[in-house]
Amino acid sequence: MWRTFWDIIKTTFVALPIGLYTTFRHLFKKPVTKKYPRVKSEMAPRYRGLHYLERYEDGSERCVCCGLCAAACPADAIYMEPAENEKGERYAAVYEINLIRCIFCGFCEEACPEEAIFLGHEFELADDHRDKFIYDKEKMLVDHPRKDRPYKTLHRRTRRHYDV
Ligand code: SF4
Ligand code: SF4
Repeated sequence: MWRTFWDIIKTTFVALPIGLYTTFRHLFKKPVTKKYPRVKSEMAPRYRGLHYLERYEDGSERCVCCGLCAAACPADAIYMEPAENEKGERYAAVYEINLIRCIFCGFCEEACPEEAIFLGHEFELADDHRDKFIYDKEKMLVDHPRKDRPYKTLHRRTRRHYDV
């Protein structure tokens, strides 16, 4: 009986004020909740999101369909078919990445000798059918060369260092 009485007193005069004080304290703090998807966060510089295929300044495609990215891919997610243009230059007539298999490790980006493939910061990849996760050239090839290639400088430095 006394125990129950003291429990009620403790809850009312100790625990309750502590709880209210905690709530009150947070009323004046800046909210940490982000209003996604209306407000999007800036991803970390090293974040690896959706791949994109680069172009040269003159608009031509950088990828020569050498297959090194596919060989480096641990998930066997890359498929390509080579072709030659009218100048005899090799390019990828078909270039596909299966994003269901992809683990976004970035090995393809590191293996590419032409600086043709990069992993960007796009992360909204949800879709409603498995087939839509096969990303082809039309989806990945950029219209103009991108200036924000995150690992370009690092890759060049590494290649210079290892002389590859
Ligand atoms: S990020 Fe990794 S798993 Fe994905 S395609 Fe490139 S090498 Fe393959
Ligand atoms: S993306 Fe790079 S590594 Fe892959 S096939 Fe094209 S040139 Fe070769």
